Amino acid sequence: MSDVDGLDDLLARAAERPRALARPELAALLAMDDEAGIQSLFDAAYALKVKYCGKRVAMRGIVEAGNVCAKDCYYCGIRKSNENLQRYQLSADEIVRLAELDAKQDYASLVIQSGEIESEAHTRFIEDVLRRIAPLDLGVTLSLGEQTEETYRRWKEAGAARYLLRIETSNPKLYATLHPAGHSWERRVECLRALRRCGYQVGTGVMCGLPGQTYDDLARDIEFFAEMDVDMIGMGPYIPHPDTPLGVLSAKCLVPSAWCLVPSAEQEKVLSAKCLVPSAELKHEDLSESNAPSTTAPSTKHQALTLGLKMIAVTRLHLHDVNIAAATALQALAPDGRERGIHAGANVIMPNITDTKYRRSYQLYAGKPCLDENAGLCKGCLERRLAAIGETVDYGHRGDSLHFSKRTRGSASLPEPRMRGSASLPEGGAE
Ligand code: SAH
Repeated sequence: MSDVDGLDDLLARAAERPRALARPELAALLAMDDEAGIQSLFDAAYALKVKYCGKRVAMRGIVEAGNVCAKDCYYCGIRKSNENLQRYQLSADEIVRLAELDAKQDYASLVIQSGEIESEAHTRFIEDVLRRIAPLDLGVTLSLGEQTEETYRRWKEAGAARYLLRIETSNPKLYATLHPAGHSWERRVECLRALRRCGYQVGTGVMCGLPGQTYDDLARDIEFFAEMDVDMIGMGPYIPHPDTPLGVLSAKCLVPSAWCLVPSAEQEKVLSAKCLVPSAELKHEDLSESNAPSTTAPSTKHQALTLGLKMIAVTRLHLHDVNIAAATALQALAPDGRERGIHAGANVIMPNITDTKYRRSYQLYAGKPCLDENAGLCKGCLERRLAAIGETVDYGHRGDSLHFSKRTRGSASLPEPRMRGSASLPEGGAE
């Protein structure tokens, strides 16, 4: 028996039409604990994925173009204040070469991601790269952080089609605990609106299992995706990084639930203070049993992975036709984490095609996989892994968001062709 009353009815109602569930229902699905219930949730979400996207997975080679970052997010390994890594920036030639490799792999789609730099020189640099790779006819996604609307517009005109900017959490108070002063949740929302005005396929997402985050926050995150009417979602488990303030708190002090209770003004002090509780004296289990409410950050890899998968599944159930990526962070928690993401309702995978010599310097979180595997190995390994779960790689197709095609159909700004090849994907929405 499931711990959610009337689970089968709830799942059937969610599958019937998008946005059918109320927030407490979304939260109840996310909080579900029994294995049979969770499996039913994954099965229902996967059925919707197959209905809308087929048994195919869109690939986007990801280029980690540089780790220089103006931001100082408490959780992120490439934050400005982390001195334990070598900073790098790929040249335009290097990025173009990787884009050519991506085209040769027939992924037809590319992501360029980096730390956040706001300058005219950087804007021009990216414009130049985009113009040079335009003849490859790839669906290009940028993930370069907060920028002015003018910059977004210039990059769009230079050839970018999609932009991914995670809101990280839809709860502004929680956001404030994860970022120093000057990092504005409101600006991030405004950036998402600006991207939409510029005509991008817009993607956002969150980390799940953040210290202090509740199931209600996560349910609210899914409602936020719906309200913003986004086309793509990239989200994954929060994984502590030892060279970050939040990583130190999560890994050493094991007081994740306490973090959200620290008033913003006090956070810097707390961050620079020594660990409050030596890890040897406090086990995570003790914490989750006693201090922490059941709705706070999961304490084991397995719990973190399951929560990440549940988030994908509930998002698919609520939104139906958006693109959802199975984040690499899932693979950091289990070797088959991304395939499990596909089986829970995701339809996009972003294999890393950055040269291995740079990968160690782009560790957003600890335990990032494939640090030593080149793009060719990643490709073969992914193909085999997907075949094992009955899915094939959607080579040669850009894998544009079906939601985007639907919302722009008939409007002044027509969507780009859904694919470059001749075969057609199932149009679940038309069924
Ligand atoms: N600077 C760009 C993109 C680089 S960071 C931007 O701001 O969009 C890409 C994503 O990595 C972030 O949005 C965040 O959600 C994720 N990330 C950072 N640190 C992480 C951690 N410790 N665990 C899991 N995901 C993390």
